Amino acid sequence: MKKNIILILLAIVMISCGKNLIIEEESGLMFTSKDDTVIVGDKPVLYNDSLRGFNVNNLLEFTLTDDKKLQLKNFLPHTFKDLTLYAYVKDTNKRFKIAYFDKIEAFKIAKYSFSKLVYMRVSKDRINKENIKFEVESSDSMFAKIKQITIPTRFSFGIFGTWDKDLNTHTNRWGWERLYAKDARDYMPLVANIAYALSSNRLKKDVLNAPFDFSNECKHNSDGTLPKGCKKLDRNDIIKKFTNVNYIYLGLPTRAEGLGGGKNFGLKRKYINNPNNVFYKYDLDGMENDRHIRYPLEVFAHEFSHICGYGHKGNMAYIGQYIYPDGPNGKKRLAGMSSLIGYLYQDMLKTKELPFTSHPNKN
Ligand SMILES: [Zn+2]
Repeated sequence: MKKNIILILLAIVMISCGKNLIIEEESGLMFTSKDDTVIVGDKPVLYNDSLRGFNVNNLLEFTLTDDKKLQLKNFLPHTFKDLTLYAYVKDTNKRFKIAYFDKIEAFKIAKYSFSKLVYMRVSKDRINKENIKFEVESSDSMFAKIKQITIPTRFSFGIFGTWDKDLNTHTNRWGWERLYAKDARDYMPLVANIAYALSSNRLKKDVLNAPFDFSNECKHNSDGTLPKGCKKLDRNDIIKKFTNVNYIYLGLPTRAEGLGGGKNFGLKRKYINNPNNVFYKYDLDGMENDRHIRYPLEVFAHEFSHICGYGHKGNMAYIGQYIYPDGPNGKKRLAGMSSLIGYLYQDMLKTKELPFTSHPNKN
């Protein structure tokens, strides 16, 4: 009951700070346990791409719906502050302020209709997806970070089997366990971090400047060279593959530590919900000396390489065997793509560059 009063109050605040918008549906939150139980079509809301799928380069989403309403979705466990929403009208090449939000709660979802004030500026027939683009300006530092995510990947949460309405669970999901809304809440900050790291210039620089070659065919010799006749990969092509994955279904594997291939990708639950592993804690010593400590990052990079189409024979999915002596800070590093990505992520954690430098759901 108290929650409802808060939601109504919030809705009133929203209306009063933006007279251009009228709240249409009760505003609420995504990734609550309701997403596990409410069925839309033939499956729970959580697995519905149009309701809970997201483009990782648009984690705070303002879209025009088919019925000409404004849909807001905040896919992150972060409350954004101080946002101004503009509508850019293509046929007049002008934009105008639609609303000011002093805050947008973590995982908030809301739908608004436009008031007469909007229709005075742009007639109803000119409000369509081609003619109207929404633009946001904000002083929130998280907003600045997510704007730097440029990779085009769309994600949704996978069933990996068949949904059985009567049993209220999915069947035939070999190797995958059921992913719940609480798992989605754990995945979101990690996906934002990974997408940020993959979008960075640092990734391009590290791949182009790596003091070893990349191969999808064979292991390196002990001196770091590739065996005679072994084809080395074009570095720009590697960058292209890692930054142009178009679709991923997220899941939770059970038998393997991680699974990746085709459109399916997942890490075991214990890796995504742990606030003390290398996804959220900087640990250079552990990364270099303890396989178990670096494992979450290694498994992620391994499976992501599979998504990009690389196999097990070279140093693309594996961390690499040959140790090269001239890594950053004079340290010894393993000469493989997983190692490169692991250290890139850790360095960005150390400098607090990543969107989430601690696990937001575990504080
Ligand atoms: Zn593998």
